[in-house]
Amino acid sequence: MIGQQTKPLEEVLDYLDGFDVIALFGCGGCATTFRTGGADAVESWVEILRKHGKRIATAIVLPPGVFTCYLPMSERYLTRHRSGLESADAVLNLSCGDGLQVIRAWMDEQGIVKPVVPAVNSMGNMGEGPVRFVEKCRGCGQCVLAFTAGICPFTQCPKSILNGPCGGVSEDGMCEVDGSRPCAWIQIYQRLEKLGRLDSLEQILDCHDWSGSDAPRIIDDESLKLVEKPRILRRR
Ligand code: SF4
Ligand code: SF4
Repeated sequence: MIGQQTKPLEEVLDYLDGFDVIALFGCGGCATTFRTGGADAVESWVEILRKHGKRIATAIVLPPGVFTCYLPMSERYLTRHRSGLESADAVLNLSCGDGLQVIRAWMDEQGIVKPVVPAVNSMGNMGEGPVRFVEKCRGCGQCVLAFTAGICPFTQCPKSILNGPCGGVSEDGMCEVDGSRPCAWIQIYQRLEKLGRLDSLEQILDCHDWSGSDAPRIIDDESLKLVEKPRILRRR
């Protein structure tokens, strides 16, 4: 999921300064999990903005499972609320920066050109929950988890060391950069030991190919189109 947190109110009000009529666009995906853009968040923003003298042109709630960033889904809601978007001075987006840019591009294409501002800070690929979420993957484009016992050296080690550990790991196995967390490479070692795969540490991994992380990355694949009819897979 894309981890995210709501921006401070003052910051959002600054973005909306000079705009009287606001459209809100929520998200039924990650933003619902992080409570930045689900139904409750949309409702609460409506109240807050009204209290600050704004008028609400439309407040669009996407049901759970409907992702703002996935245009085949969100387009239905954009289309349905088109007149509200048209009558707004600005749009406040309650999803990650990915979702914001998807709806912003759709609006531009439709000739609805107006400011779309974020209510949310996006914080990368996070997992776990329900309270504590931890960044697990930097989306490097060339996953090495097969060599590192399923523990990502690029996100779990603050130095992103590929052939670790560094010289600073403490005697009790904690990280020198952040003494409150265990060294990622000690964890990798311990897990490889449990798997009976310690020999894999003898293999020095080549310099990581970061070219797969150059922005903007694009996946263009015809087979990703939604299948219209559900398929029934035969069980073995
Ligand atoms: S190695 Fe790369 S793709 Fe795999 S978890 Fe780490 S950052 Fe993500
Ligand atoms: S102590 Fe371990 S986790 Fe911390 S920076 Fe060094 S190798 Fe990375």
